[in-house]
Order: sequence, then C-alpha cells, then structure tokens
Amino acid sequence: MDSLEAFAGGKLAALDARSLKRTLAPTGRLDGVRVERGGRTLISFSCNDYLGLSHHPAVKAAAAEALARWGSGSGASRLITGDNPLIEDLEKRLARLKGAEAACVFGSGYLANTGIIPTLTGEGDLILIDELAHACLWAGSRLSPAETVMFRHNDLAHLSQLLSEKRGGCRRVLVLTDGVFSMDGDLAPVADMAALCATHDAWLMTDDAHGVGVVGGGRGSSFVTDGPKPPLQMGTLSKAIGGYGGYLCASKAVIDLIKTRARTVVYSTGLPPASAAAAIAALDVIEGDAAFCAEPIRKARLFTDALGLPPAQSPIVPVMFGSALAALAAQRNLETLGFLAVAIRPPTVAEGTARLRFTFSALHDDADVLRLAGAVADVRARKAA
Ligand SMILES: *Cc1c(COP(=O)(O)O)cnc(C)c1O
Repeated sequence: MDSLEAFAGGKLAALDARSLKRTLAPTGRLDGVRVERGGRTLISFSCNDYLGLSHHPAVKAAAAEALARWGSGSGASRLITGDNPLIEDLEKRLARLKGAEAACVFGSGYLANTGIIPTLTGEGDLILIDELAHACLWAGSRLSPAETVMFRHNDLAHLSQLLSEKRGGCRRVLVLTDGVFSMDGDLAPVADMAALCATHDAWLMTDDAHGVGVVGGGRGSSFVTDGPKPPLQMGTLSKAIGGYGGYLCASKAVIDLIKTRARTVVYSTGLPPASAAAAIAALDVIEGDAAFCAEPIRKARLFTDALGLPPAQSPIVPVMFGSALAALAAQRNLETLGFLAVAIRPPTVAEGTARLRFTFSALHDDADVLRLAGAVADVRARKAA
C-alpha cells in the first residue's frame, strides 16, 4: 500500500503547491439564496438554483407526497422495475416544454451525456465539440470510439470549415455545445448552428443545463431566437428545476433507441420518484410564469451594469482574476462581507483564467446585488493596486 499512499500524497502536494487542491465545505442551503457554512450565514451567489425552486413550497410538497407513497428509491434500473409512472409524466412534460416528440430522463445530467453520446456515435463517426463545452460532454465523447475534434468557442466559421473538410470522410457527425456556457455565461448561436448542421446532415446536441428555466421564456436556449431547433436537446433537472436528474428531448425513434441502448439508462438505477415529482411541480412554476423566469437575468444585469461589464446574457457572470491564488483571495474577501462566491480554478477553466463565477437568483434582493457589486469593485481595485 505504500505506493498508493505515495501516489495520492504526492499528487495532492503538487496540486496544493499550485493552489489547485480542492476541499469540500459542508454547506446547508437554508432557502433559495442563504447558506450556512463554517458557522456563518452567507448570501450565496454560487448556487445554480436560479429560481429558488429547490425550496418552493409546491415543489417540496410534491416530493414529500411521492416519497410517502413510493418510498425513497426507485429500486432498480428503469428497464427492470425502476420506471415509476411519475417518470413518464415528467418525460411528457419535458418533451412539451422543448417542443420535442419525446424525452428520456436519466439519473443526472452527467449520466445523460455519458449515455447519449456513445449510443449515437461509434467507429468511423465524428464528434465536433465546442472547446468550452462542459466536462461531461467531453467525458461522453471519450467513451465513444468516434474521432473527436474541437472547434473554437462559438465560432460558426470554424465549425463550418471542419464540417466541409471532414463530413465526406465519416458516416455520422454529432456536434456538441452548451446552450448557455456554464463558466462564462454566454450563449451558443443555437439557431444558426442548427441550420449549419442540417445542411451537412450533422446532428446538433445542445446541453441546456443552464438555459432551461432562465432563457427563452423559461424554455431554454433553443427558444432565445426563432429558427431551427436542435434535434437533440439535453439538460439537467438540478439547476433552475431545483432537483436532481437529467434528460434528453428528441424524436420518438431517438428516445426509443436511447432507452434501449444507453448504458447509463440500462445499467443505472431509475430516478427516485420524489425527484420526478419535484421536477414536475417545478415545471408547473416555470411554464406558468415567464416573467419570474426572466428575473435571474434581470438581477445579473443589475450586477454587470453596476460594474460596467458587458450586459449579462444569462444568470452566470464570471469576473476574471487570472491566478488561482488571486481568485481564492477574492473569495475569502467577499466571505468576510457575508457573500459566498466560489472561485473557479483550472482544470475547470483554462490556466490563467481563474475567476469568481457569480450566479443570480430570482430571489436575490436588488439591494444585495448592488452591495455585492460594490464589494467586487473594491476587491478588483485592491488586486489592481
Ligand atoms: C451541471 C452541468 C451538467 C451536469 O448535470 P448534473 O445533473 O449536475 O449531473 C451538464 N452540463 C452542464 C453544462 C452543466 O453545467
């Protein structure tokens, strides 16, 4: 065992020397915006629960009722006995929201991407992926024998060039992008990308983890502009929807194939019934109140306006600090003022682009957002000095 201890210890020491060791901080989320951490109550600007639905009374009641009726777990893979009827209800709701024929629910967004991508691609196929796409789109690509090539972030000309050069030499092409980029908060040009992909018979999949509930009137990044929709719209139930789980919306044939062959459906336990019930109740809120869904971006724009940053396009606003050390110092600084904004460091983001990633909730007070902006301005001024 000595070599194992030496391996783990050595890796950790090397990471620590670069300010890249990570530690868990037990955090109790008291409501949509306040968290308990280290014996203090902080206002969080780091949660992805953009609408506070994890604490919404109707969402909690739906989960509690399903828990009482169906128990805490689903008991098996969906294909055995784990397909609680609530999951099918949820799939119908997701498909309707996304204007798709059908949907498949997974245990998480990460499981969705690692199941979908190797099901749809294989030997002799090509995957084109945005360089800033989420880690689990990359992970799914690595599980496929298809050749994987990245295109420059949001660069349609580069994507078009790669499609022209490579389309003829492969059977099938899958194009992968975030709809709303998780660490930068910018949007993919979804409609233009869908049109481009269609002309090359390439299949576009958008990961709408940070889009649903907050852009496109709550329907997500495919609905920000008019125009063609991606044939594959993937997302998670764990951000604005406030619970846990992942999904894909697509045609009935694609969904039937995924349910038959995706390994993370076949060999992983079905979503707990309470999570399905919570998501349905959350979708009731999202579909019923487009104005509420617009609030997180409004809060984010208060912040970007106050700091003279480009107007936020989503509830995610990065403020760059460069080095991991500087980002951590800024985090600690804000914490002394009662704000939680967690530093994001490599390898989650590129070397030299460590940042504070601020996320805004419909439930934040405008006054707190403006106070935060003042504090961030001070921290940046101190760094520059
Ligand atoms: C969070 C996230 C995921 C993973 O979803 P989980 O349900 O948390 O596993 C996938 N894609 C993107 C873009 C994300 O931000």
